[in-house]
Amino acid sequence: MPEPRTQPSVLLGARVLLPRPALQDLIDALAACGFEVIGPRARDGAIVYDRLRRIEELPAGWTDRQDGGTYGLERRSDAALFGYAVGPHSWKQFLHPPQERLWRARRREDGFAIEPEPAPPSRLAFIGVRACELHAIAIQDRVFMGGAHKDTGYEARRRGAFVVAVNCGTAGGTCFCASMETGPRAEAGFDLALTELIGGTRHDFLMEAGSEAGAALLAGLPTRPAGAADIAAAEAVVARTAASMGRTMDTVGLKSLLQDHPEHPRWDEVASRCLACANCTMVCPTCFCTTVTDHTDLAGQEAERVRHWDSCFTADFSYIHGGSVRSSTKSRYRQWMTHKLAHWIDQFGTSGCVGCGRCITWCPVGIDITAEAAAIRADPAAHGTKRGTSHGNP
Ligand code: SF4
Ligand code: SF4
Repeated sequence: MPEPRTQPSVLLGARVLLPRPALQDLIDALAACGFEVIGPRARDGAIVYDRLRRIEELPAGWTDRQDGGTYGLERRSDAALFGYAVGPHSWKQFLHPPQERLWRARRREDGFAIEPEPAPPSRLAFIGVRACELHAIAIQDRVFMGGAHKDTGYEARRRGAFVVAVNCGTAGGTCFCASMETGPRAEAGFDLALTELIGGTRHDFLMEAGSEAGAALLAGLPTRPAGAADIAAAEAVVARTAASMGRTMDTVGLKSLLQDHPEHPRWDEVASRCLACANCTMVCPTCFCTTVTDHTDLAGQEAERVRHWDSCFTADFSYIHGGSVRSSTKSRYRQWMTHKLAHWIDQFGTSGCVGCGRCITWCPVGIDITAEAAAIRADPAAHGTKRGTSHGNP
């Protein structure tokens, strides 16, 4: 870590300005502390999260255009480094990997010995975490670390992570974090947060430390005090983004609206379009369901158990001795949406949706969770009788 230029305690919660070139100093400082730095990059026609070494690798001057089933990159009129919304990747893939070996067993003379997986080899630093993504990480923290049985792999990765948040300067066409009260301003859950200030000859970042570790890192960077005009400019960026959300979700009474209407005709209508492809659950930053597969080698010397992401949209996911409990697409979509927006609140105390819009953008047929909720709200009397629970109805 670089030598502190300012006392870290002075910086906790204070706002300072970091010039654009000094973002490289931040990346270098994180690397010097032993972090593997992950950040946004433009690749394969999308903004993805990948290993980051140089600020030249950031998606300067790119933005994304999103709508239901539609995503594309376009050039901006400026060289903003964080001038896009969110892409198909989320930080879930690093904290809760798509595939993870849980343990391996080797044959010994006296039987098999189970070898637990070693701790992750490196600590991760995430650059460019949006407010909705901070909320998604907090939701997965509750799932994996909030109960009596903690996921040790997730916990090790999470506790070692350093988070640099970005206050959004651009709302995507499918974003609705303002409705879910999860953005666009990063309020908590970060070590550092930045707001990109660009225009005319200006290009710098208003920085805020959200933890002692963030303040210590910031103290070694070439910052200067922010003035009232800088802080006002950053507030204006977030306010402009909040006012330009591509979607809205009316959350008033939404939980009971969904739980009380398992037989609403809209479930049949959406099922006639849904391909049960599971894309929405793969891109969702809060979906956490998995399955496990066991493997043995042909010589019978080694065995291993591997965990993979799974989805409530697959037939196998609800397979119980002789058949799938949710055999129809209707029952799977209804399970996903009512879990996300209603049962999740019973289970974990918050909605399972943070309004990132990924499930809308990456649905191949453009099914829109905000439109589905609005359709049920628009005609709640239609076949609204409550019949048990939506879990398990084919
Ligand atoms: S349900 Fe859709 S909008 Fe909500 S968090 Fe998941 S992907 Fe984002
Ligand atoms: S809602 Fe869209 S993304 Fe999700 S399973 Fe159906 S078709 Fe696939």
